[in-house]
Amino acid sequence: MGNNKPKLVVLSGAGISAESGLGTFRDKGGLWDQYDINEVATPEAWEKNPALVLDFYNQRRKLVLEAVPNDAHFALVELEKSFDVHIVTQNIDDLHERAGSTNILHLHGEILKAQCSIDESEVVKLNGPDIKLGDVSKKGYQLRPHVVWFGEAVPKMFEAEKIVNDADIFIVIGTSLNVYPAANLIYACKKTCKKYLVDLNELSTVKFKNLIHLRGNASEKVPELAQKLIKESNITI
Ligand code: NAD
Repeated sequence: MGNNKPKLVVLSGAGISAESGLGTFRDKGGLWDQYDINEVATPEAWEKNPALVLDFYNQRRKLVLEAVPNDAHFALVELEKSFDVHIVTQNIDDLHERAGSTNILHLHGEILKAQCSIDESEVVKLNGPDIKLGDVSKKGYQLRPHVVWFGEAVPKMFEAEKIVNDADIFIVIGTSLNVYPAANLIYACKKTCKKYLVDLNELSTVKFKNLIHLRGNASEKVPELAQKLIKESNITI
């Protein structure tokens, strides 16, 4: 963006925040083992039982407020010295912001914000940890979490694709690549783009050619990768 640094794009998922104490969704013992997605994270759930949905996200919000960024979040901030870094995150927490990253696009919303349940363009920052039944938007409708639910469109997808399209380096961190359309972003980069994946598990990215998989904890592997990339960029300059 207006500088000569190589463009480095990160796609992060729940795994980058796991070591900050925020549970992932699909890992064993993850949130979807404890809750039924359909009962808490869909428009139908909201229709059927808004109190349960609010309670689910109020609990998540409390945990986010208690969590702190880990070394993986901080390493991405460090990369800004050498690269034009853009973070596209599926996470609804604010740990990238609190670590100090400056360019962040939240694909699936932000839990510390609420939106009008009728007009999604009306978004407000919350002052406390809870949204309660009876808390209303300026238009007078019930507030809901500013989170994209399963079955809803992802309004920022087009913007995210444009960010990934001309990346020189693309790093995927801690995502099972099970949630679409976000998972399609790994196919949006150009052929010459260097691609890395940091994840604890083996993922089925067979179509994703020339991908270097650094298997392990994000808090360890992301700082290692960041140091390597910074060193290489100094040699190139
Ligand atoms: P996911 O739960 O489907 O997958 C998590 C991935 O992280 C897995 O591939 C797992 O192997 C990996 N992982 C777990 N611990 C790790 C660690 N310490 N280091 C590296 N990798 C690790 O999550 P997802 O792919 O992000 O998609 C699910 C949706 O869940 C997203 O839409 C996101 O909004 C939402 N979510 C967000 C948060 C959050 O904001 N912190 C937490 C849970 C879920």
